[in-house]
This record gives sequence, structure tokens and C-alpha cells, in this order.
Amino acid sequence: MRKKILVTGGAGFIGSHLCKKLLEENNEVLCLDNYFTGSKMNILPLLDNPMFELIRHDIVNPYIAEVDEIYNLACPASPIHYQHNPIQTVKISVMGAINMLETAKATGAKILQASTSEVYGDPKIHPQVESYWGNVNPIGERSCYDEGKRCAETLFMDYHRQSQLKIKIIRIFNTYGPNMHPNDGRVVSNFIVQCLRNEDITIYGDGNQSRSFQYVDDLIEGMTKMMATPNEFIGPVNIGNPTEFTILELAQAVINLTNSKSKLIFKRLPMDDPQQRRPDISLAKDKLNWTPKIELEEGLKKTIEYFDILLKKNN
Ligand code: NAD
Ligand code: UDP
Repeated sequence: MRKKILVTGGAGFIGSHLCKKLLEENNEVLCLDNYFTGSKMNILPLLDNPMFELIRHDIVNPYIAEVDEIYNLACPASPIHYQHNPIQTVKISVMGAINMLETAKATGAKILQASTSEVYGDPKIHPQVESYWGNVNPIGERSCYDEGKRCAETLFMDYHRQSQLKIKIIRIFNTYGPNMHPNDGRVVSNFIVQCLRNEDITIYGDGNQSRSFQYVDDLIEGMTKMMATPNEFIGPVNIGNPTEFTILELAQAVINLTNSKSKLIFKRLPMDDPQQRRPDISLAKDKLNWTPKIELEEGLKKTIEYFDILLKKNN
């Protein structure tokens, strides 16, 4: 049956892929965004679809619509963007969550929160399991995002316990793919853009810190599967690719795939930059029957192709 679905942050990197998939599944999609880090270009191919509706709105302010499901994605996700106006980041995470939970309460919609592996901070348990409470600095430069997202999880759980809302929480690990902004600032898009332009590759710190990179299509599959699980399963559940790489290994992979002449340069490691990150995805395998399918090389090739076309167009 066709559903009416609200996607906040729908013009962003992940949101645009989600809107596309939900439309392909014959749903009606309301895409809500204030274009802080997203772009109309990401959703341009969807605008012709009569089942797609675009709303310019800041989720720090209330918004009510009669919908069946809400995916709450609105929030800058790249450290340079969420640290640009940290007070606003807290407001988006916390007030935005309250506003969307109130919408769910008013309409009876099921609501999914796009939480993050950042709730684990600089983790002392490796790989990270959902039962781990994390190691987060509450007063650092990353705290606006980490603590904002942790508080949003608290709000989701409290609305569930206090008002019986149908909620879902996913913790997304580093995700990459087409529709990332070339100036997004996150590592995969930075390295690809630098390699394609034969510019220096910026390694923060010594490059021995690790991340596990998930291609966006895998995330969208996990996210929509989570929304479709019975109401009793609320999460939080990790959605990520458990294959772990150091940042130096990632740089080398991008150099190889682009045949770039770029050289590595080393810059200051940002404050509280997590040393390691890898999801334990046993829960997602068990409850969602989900595992990521696209390994780094294949995903990087698709993403490089996207940026190659984009950069040539912009030149
Ligand atoms: P993104 O920056 O590309 O997308 C965020 C979108 O939200 C943008 O379109 C932006 O304009 C919009 N937005 C920001 N503030 C808003 C506001 N106040 N009102 C309305 N819209 C607003 O980032 P993304 O990578 O697509 O991330 C989407 C979500 O997934 C975020 O909530 C992020 O925290 C979460 N997440 C992403 C990753 C990742 O690796 N990409 C990892 C963990 C969690
Ligand atoms: N990073 C880097 N060079 C860059 C951008 C990021 O070395 O140009 C590092 C960053 O310090 C971190 C890792 O890559 O250790 C992942 O950074 P990103 O901002 O993509 O995500 P997050 O730190 O939120 O996981």
C-alpha cells in the first residue's frame, strides 16, 4: 500500500538517496530541508515525479503533516559543518527531534532517527556493540554533534516509554557515495576530489586512525528494512560496513583508483578525533536480515565516477 512519508534532510547526501528509493517503492514523499548542507541538485531528478513534494523548512521550528512514517535525517553531518555553528547543531539535534516526535505523536506516524556511531565517541570497546555506552567528551568541539545526537536518542526513548510512540533508532557508521557535496569536508569526498584535481591529500594526524566505510546503497537498504520491522523492535541498531581501514589505506586506495599524482601532506589531528571505529553488526544481521554488500573498491569506483563527472561539469 502506498504510504505518505516525511524525510527531513531529504536534499542532503543520504536523504536524496532515501527519497529516490521510497519513490521507486511507489510511496508519496515529502522532502523537508532548509538547504544548510544539502542541495536542490541532489533531488533535481525527483522533481518531475508528482508523488514528490519539496518543502523548505528548518526543523528547529515545528512542522506538522499527516504522514505514515518519518525519517529524521536533518542535521549537518560533517565535522567542519556541524562545528561551524555548534549552538545551532545542538538546536537541530534536540529541538528538531522534539518537533518531529511531536509530529509523530500528533499523527500516529512511525518515526526513525538517523543516529550515529559518534554516540560511542572515542570508543574503548572495539568493535562497537549497541550495548556500549560510549566514551564521549561532553565539553569538546565535537560535543555539539555527539551529545546532540545522544540527547535525541534519549528523547526518542522517552517519547516511546511515556507516549507509546512507534520509534526506530539506527546508528549509522561512516557512509559515502554519490551526492556528497564536493566541499563536504568528510574524508572520502575530500580524498577523491583532491586526487581528481591532483592536489595534495590532507591526512589529519598520522593517518593510522581507522574507520569502516559503508556505501550509501547498503545504508538505504538497512534503513528501510529497519523501518519495516515489527513495532516491538526499536533498536538502537548499528548500520555500517565492518571492514576497517586506516586513513592511510583509504588514501592509497583512492590514489590507485584515480591514477592520481597527488602527494600526502600531514595536518593537525582535530580535537577528540576517534582513534578507531568499526561496527558490530550482529544485531542488524539477526533482526533485519541485513549485511552490507558493497566493498570499498566497488563503492569508491562508483563515487569517483560521480565526482569525475561533477568536477568536469563545474570547470
Ligand atoms: P548532509 O549534510 O548531506 O545532509 C543533511 C541534510 O539536512 C542537508 O540536506 C541539510 O540541508 C539538512 N538540514 C540541516 N539542518 C537542517 C534544519 N535545521 N532543518 C532542515 N534541514 C536541515 O549529511 P548526511 O551525510 O546526508 O547525513 C544525514 C543524516 O545521517 C544526519 O542526521 C547525520 O547525522 C546522519 N549520519 C550520517 C553519517 C554519514 O556518514 N553520512 C553517519 C552517521 C550519521
Ligand atoms: N580526515 C583526514 N583528512 C581529511 C578529512 C578527514 O585525514 O581531509 C580524517 C579525520 O581526521 C578522521 C577520519 O578521516 O580521522 C574520518 O573523518 P570524517 O570527517 O570523514 O568522519 P568522522 O571523523 O566523523 O568519522
